[in-house]
Amino acid sequence: MKKLELKVRTRKLAVDEMQARVKEIENLQGTSHITIQEMQDKETKLTEQQFKVNNNREFDSITKEVEHVKGERAALEERLRTASVSEENLKASLERLTAELAEAQSALADKQKELESLTGDHNVELKKFIAMRLKVIADLDDTLEAEYERIRTFHREATVAIRRDSCSGCYSAIPSQRIMEMKYNREKMYTCENCGRILVTEDVADEVEAIVEEA
Ligand SMILES: [Zn+2]
Repeated sequence: MKKLELKVRTRKLAVDEMQARVKEIENLQGTSHITIQEMQDKETKLTEQQFKVNNNREFDSITKEVEHVKGERAALEERLRTASVSEENLKASLERLTAELAEAQSALADKQKELESLTGDHNVELKKFIAMRLKVIADLDDTLEAEYERIRTFHREATVAIRRDSCSGCYSAIPSQRIMEMKYNREKMYTCENCGRILVTEDVADEVEAIVEEA
């Protein structure tokens, strides 16, 4: 929950910052369009003036002025080019971050809903299970939790027991060698090769059921 809140907060900050930068670039693009036009007009005007001058000193001074304006225009055009490249990059990152933010926000909303159901006037049994679930998840390793949540997007029951040597989620047979292996590697997570659900051996499932009943 705290991790999710943090994730939402940091993504939100990054999205806001990027949006502000995109806006800045758009402002620059908007105003420099006019500035460049003005500079070009000034250049044209100066060049026209140059034909009417009476001496070399005036001619040179206008030449200098034209070069100065041209230099400024080139600098501004270069700034615009750089800005449009970073705008593209920003927009790509912004798209990715916005998606991440939406994902984190919806995950957070789900958790909040679960918590609310704990405080609301709901079924006592249900509250108990949700509390247990939240407690277990809090103790779970991050990568395991992510994997569990990923599987849960495909299957209502992410974890199923092996019954009669078969996955009780999809009923495909599990090799007895593998079941033996599972019994000796209690810490390792096994998934069904057919449906991807997390598998637990029958004795583990019975143990869990007993704990839940006692709670
Ligand atoms: Zn299966």
